[in-house]
Amino acid sequence: MRLRLPEERPTEPPTGYKIAHPVLSHDGTRAGFTGVSLGGALPYGVVADASCVYGLRHQAPHRRCDCGFHCVHDRSTAESLLCTAEHRAAVLLEVSVIGRYLRFERGFRYARQRIRVATVGPCTCGTVASALADAGWGRPGWRALAPSCAGCLRGRTSVSLASFARLAGEGLRVVAGSGAAGCGVAVADVVADGLGVPELAAEAALLQARLDWFQSQLARLGERGKGGEG
Ligand SMILES: [Zn+2]
Ligand SMILES: [Zn+2]
Repeated sequence: MRLRLPEERPTEPPTGYKIAHPVLSHDGTRAGFTGVSLGGALPYGVVADASCVYGLRHQAPHRRCDCGFHCVHDRSTAESLLCTAEHRAAVLLEVSVIGRYLRFERGFRYARQRIRVATVGPCTCGTVASALADAGWGRPGWRALAPSCAGCLRGRTSVSLASFARLAGEGLRVVAGSGAAGCGVAVADVVADGLGVPELAAEAALLQARLDWFQSQLARLGERGKGGEG
C-alpha cells in the first residue's frame, strides 16, 4: 500500500520566499527575474507558469522530476541564501504559490506563481540601493541587474526601483532593504508601483548622479583636448 499525504485545499494561495536576479530586456521595455540555480536560464515575469526545465512532456511540478518553481516557507531561510558570494546581488522575492504544489519540509515546488514583493539589498558600497544597474552578465536578450546607489551608477544602464516595478507590472512592489544586519534585508523604504513624491525624488537623485557623471566625463575630455593628447 502506498501512503499518500492528504491533499490540501487552501482558501488563500500560500506565501513563499525565494531569491532571484532581476533582469531587464535588451531594449529596456520589460523587467523580470531569473532563478539562481535550476531553471536559471529562463527569465520569468511577475506572474508565470512553470514548465519542465528538462523539456519533458509533463506538467511541472512532476513528482518524479525536480521541475517547477521552488520556494521556502521562511523568509529567514531565503535571506540566508543571499549570504553566499554568488548570490549577494540577488533580490528576495515574496511569492504567492498558485496552482498545484508539492509541499516539502522547507518549502514548495509548484506550478504557477505571482511575485508580490521584491526586496533589493544594498549597493556594494553599503548604501541603500536606489536603482538596479547592469550587473555585467545576462541571458540571451536579458541583462542581469544588481542593486546600486546613485553614486555608484557611473553611467551604467540602470532603472530606478519604481521604474523596475512599473516595467515588471502586475502590481509588483519593489522595496529597498538595508544590509546593515549581516546579510539580512531589513526594510528601510517602500517604493510602490505608482510614482509618488518619494519615488520622484529618487528619480531626480538618479538623474542628478548621472548628470554629475556625464559632466565629469566631459570635463576630462575637455582637459585632454586642451592638453593636445587627443
Ligand atoms: Zn520535469
Ligand atoms: Zn554605492
